[in-house]
Amino acid sequence: MKYPFIEVNLEKIKHNTKVVSNICRNHGVNPVGVTKVSSGSTELAKAMVDGGIGILGDSKLDNLAKFKDIPAKKMLLRLPGISEVENLVEFADISLNSQIETIRAISKEAIKAGKIHEIVLMVDLGDLREGIFYKNKGEILKTVEKILELEGVKLVGIGTNLTCYGAIIPSEENMGELVKIKEEIEKIFNIELELISGGNSSSLCLIQNGGLPKGINQMRLGTSILLGLVEVTWTMIPNTYNDAFKLKAEIVEIQEKPSMPIGEKAMDAFRNVPTFEDKGMMKRAICAIGKQDCDPEFMIPDNKDINILGSSSDHLILNITNCDMDYKIGDVISFTLDYVAILRCMTSPYVRRVYI
Ligand SMILES: *Cc1c(COP(=O)(O)O)cnc(C)c1O
Repeated sequence: MKYPFIEVNLEKIKHNTKVVSNICRNHGVNPVGVTKVSSGSTELAKAMVDGGIGILGDSKLDNLAKFKDIPAKKMLLRLPGISEVENLVEFADISLNSQIETIRAISKEAIKAGKIHEIVLMVDLGDLREGIFYKNKGEILKTVEKILELEGVKLVGIGTNLTCYGAIIPSEENMGELVKIKEEIEKIFNIELELISGGNSSSLCLIQNGGLPKGINQMRLGTSILLGLVEVTWTMIPNTYNDAFKLKAEIVEIQEKPSMPIGEKAMDAFRNVPTFEDKGMMKRAICAIGKQDCDPEFMIPDNKDINILGSSSDHLILNITNCDMDYKIGDVISFTLDYVAILRCMTSPYVRRVYI
């Protein structure tokens, strides 16, 4: 076996998908399975589809292109660029949009390809990432009017994203605003919109606290499916796994050393000035992985007696003083990964993927 590798437990992902999807459907919400953490893993996308997901969402068209043969609708999560519309129309059925210029370009391309591309118009409820600002009603209505004039695209609904840039919590109030905007559009243009895409995993807190306004009928879910976690409330969804992703890294050094560096101090390799606490001599191990390929702040050693002291690009430094286990060179340390570490590992060409 060669290290490091990330071990992805597809059964656990499938199980989590089923549990989370059930909760959603019981509240009239259709879940989109968000795969963007996986750098286009078809295995992971298939596990979500096996768990009952009908729409796969990803932020990159390169990833959606890999899912071409998986039987599910494909949604592009990040606003497409005008330069991407050809690939967009080929590899995605739905996209989130806020700019009429881009939607016009999609329309042209879709007509050429003989397809109808579905548009979700994004509304910014105050998190201040993508979407037309919700108080800018004139701009929202003007954009809708122009989309309705276009061929090759179909306005299927409106959507929002929260808790990403501004860390704003989804609430009955801000989501209610979204429902009102949808109803206003329907009345003014005498149309029916099938969709209100009510955010990411953080919006599950509205199901947890009973504050989900009627009408929100889609959520785009990554973290909650992959980790069983709702981030706003920092709660685990009952009957889900939080350890579907493990990193296995090899020990390349074990030495007794002090806990305090010796000599005059400058900045470390990442331009920080580190501080240390004197804990006397330590038994320290180095694993052959670092910040380039994972994120030590978002991984937990499975052996609770190990603590992570720090890392540089390619070295992970561990304190193994308190371990009962007598580690040797070549032994492997296992870590359970949180979202950011999964993202790094799955994106790194130096970390192999093993599916179980
Ligand atoms: C990443 C993302 C999601 C999924 O976020 P999670 O918190 O992982 O569920 C949903 N929608 C958009 C637009 C995203 O960028």
